[in-house]
Amino acid sequence: MLLVSAPVLGEEEKAALAAVIDDGWVTMGDRVREFEHTFARMHEAEDSIAVGSCTAALHLILHSLGIGPGDEVLVPSLTFVATANAVLYVGARPVFVDVESASVPLMSLDDAEAKCTSRTAAVVLVHFAGYLAYRDAWQSFARRKGLLLIEDAAHAPGLPAVGTYGEAAAFSFYGNKNMTTAEGGAVIAHSRSLRETIRRARSHGMTSNTRQRLTSRRPDYDVTMLGFNYRMDELRAAVGLAQLRKLPEWNAIRQRLSLSYRQLIAEHCPLVLVPFEALWPSTHHLIPVVLPTSTRRQHIIDRLRKRGIQTTVHYPPVHRLTFYRDLYPDTSLPLTEQFAQRELTLPLHPRMTQSDVEMVVSTLAAAIGDEFPVGAVA
Ligand SMILES: *Cc1c(COP(=O)(O)O)cnc(C)c1O
Repeated sequence: MLLVSAPVLGEEEKAALAAVIDDGWVTMGDRVREFEHTFARMHEAEDSIAVGSCTAALHLILHSLGIGPGDEVLVPSLTFVATANAVLYVGARPVFVDVESASVPLMSLDDAEAKCTSRTAAVVLVHFAGYLAYRDAWQSFARRKGLLLIEDAAHAPGLPAVGTYGEAAAFSFYGNKNMTTAEGGAVIAHSRSLRETIRRARSHGMTSNTRQRLTSRRPDYDVTMLGFNYRMDELRAAVGLAQLRKLPEWNAIRQRLSLSYRQLIAEHCPLVLVPFEALWPSTHHLIPVVLPTSTRRQHIIDRLRKRGIQTTVHYPPVHRLTFYRDLYPDTSLPLTEQFAQRELTLPLHPRMTQSDVEMVVSTLAAAIGDEFPVGAVA
């Protein structure tokens, strides 16, 4: 089966894991710190904080910025549910914002403006599929409205611009992301004081960690805030360091495969829309396509599956999921809903070849051709 995404794991990761086991120090040690420094350097940031997941990263950011009950946070609905969940974790209210269009399925500035109230405290941007949100426009929007700007950068590790939009950015190293530690995440935060708060909140609000107490001769510690256990461990950091070395090359392979998808789809499936322009800054996490309005998506999914090609949908809109529909039954986002009905995500990962892309596009073309017999299109 050609999967939508597949992690690249091999001898380097095995050796890195074995080295941690041989060392015998498995939590919060030198590898976590080295991973944090290396990840920060890749994004031209001063430092980063490694955590257990992107969900934990988002929670820590919102919590540490003091967002809470009474606050509203603008979020896209075309995202993974964790983006909105993190807002609920701190007791604030997620306010769903529509996308700009089918060809730019990023959060709409106009709709965000329309949904601002006196209670709006922050915006969480998602670099959907790895395509970067408009930096200048969102920064000036946030400044004008007095809002905190946060990036959910789960799809976008490895580009220096990511993590520079606002207060902080959250990254994911889950198994289907551009790099993986199995489970894992990181925070890049602009101000030193926010980084210090997040670092402390990551580990129970404690003033020192196990390793520091080992090396400093001072066995005592204090707890100065309500914290969590959102730590990363040495095994994951070791895998992460191996993955980070390869991330730039993998992102370049993704870009080549994406370009090839665009060219072949334009040639063989002219009715299929590929969102964003080819040169849009991106980490090419996904290749989303928008099927023609009258196509039965399930038929296309089944045809591709028969040829051993997995496809998925990004995303079932969060505001339409049962839990959120029960909470906010009146939310309506027409462009997000239309996009989600027609969207199909094709396989894209660094283990794929040019001929895999050709096979996917020719299968897609044949499936769509059956729905639109020659002569019926015009
Ligand atoms: C994967 C993902 C998350 C959650 O990441 P975890 O590391 O699994 O917690 C959050 N937001 C987006 C947009 C994602 O794709």
